[in-house]
Amino acid sequence: MACNILILGGTTEARALAEALAPRAEFSVVISLAGRTAKPLAHAVPMRVGGFGGMPGLAAWLTQHRTAALIDATHPYAACISANAAAAASITGIPLLALRRPAWTPVPGDRWTSVASAAAAAAELGAAPRRVFLALGRQELRPFEAAPQHGYLIRSVDPVDPPLALPRARYLTERGPFDPESETAMLAAHGIDAIVAKNSGGTATYGKIAAARALGIQVFLLRRPDLPQVPEVATVNAVLAWLDHVAARRGV
Ligand code: NAP
Repeated sequence: MACNILILGGTTEARALAEALAPRAEFSVVISLAGRTAKPLAHAVPMRVGGFGGMPGLAAWLTQHRTAALIDATHPYAACISANAAAAASITGIPLLALRRPAWTPVPGDRWTSVASAAAAAAELGAAPRRVFLALGRQELRPFEAAPQHGYLIRSVDPVDPPLALPRARYLTERGPFDPESETAMLAAHGIDAIVAKNSGGTATYGKIAAARALGIQVFLLRRPDLPQVPEVATVNAVLAWLDHVAARRGV
């Protein structure tokens, strides 16, 4: 019988993992999305959408679906679901592996300022008006209403609704990946002199970091949250190798 696998997704890597596993008859895979975007991209395996109802709900789902292994391939800033995954795996005894992107590290020419939160970034932008590109989730934008002296360019997958209470905010509705060339052109066209972003790691959103370096733009990077200590790997191939062991142990 195939091994039931649950992937906690919402990232490029989770999608790639689902695609790699879809043709493998020894695995029966479901990918789970939080439901943050109105029209999620298609996935190569069946998808479920929405919260589980906290850690107990996730543990119950794993048990009900006779899950053989859980893969936490969520975004490095999605700390709640990762904590729930660790606790649910521990309670149910279901093997868990985290697929986590290593953080970006600065290279010569980068002008990075590390900040604890979006609110801290809003304060650190300073009193003098700046032209700020916000590359954050829609839920993290409200703190910038406390700094209305700046002009903002805000990019999100779905429209920001209701719009922010900011006199000089412009909105871009776009989905990544974003390459360095188009990011450089976009930042220059809008006269951006500061970026607020997450240290997401990976390649899909690194374009703005490379573009900021080329243009000498300061980047305020939100510090990564603490994540649970669980076995982790950095690549889809490493997850596949780990799952091969899971299948072998179960004689599949
Ligand atoms: P979060 O704060 O860690 O999670 C909040 C709640 O959302 C969780 O307790 C869970 O609800 C639900 N949830 C989160 N991820 C889920 C998933 N994959 N499947 C089912 N339920 C999920 O998460 P977040 O930071 O809001 O991120 C939400 C999703 O967006 C994640 O899947 C993440 O991979 C993706 N994402 C996040 C970011 C980011 O910057 N945070 C960026 C890109 C993509 P219950 O407690 O009810 O189970």
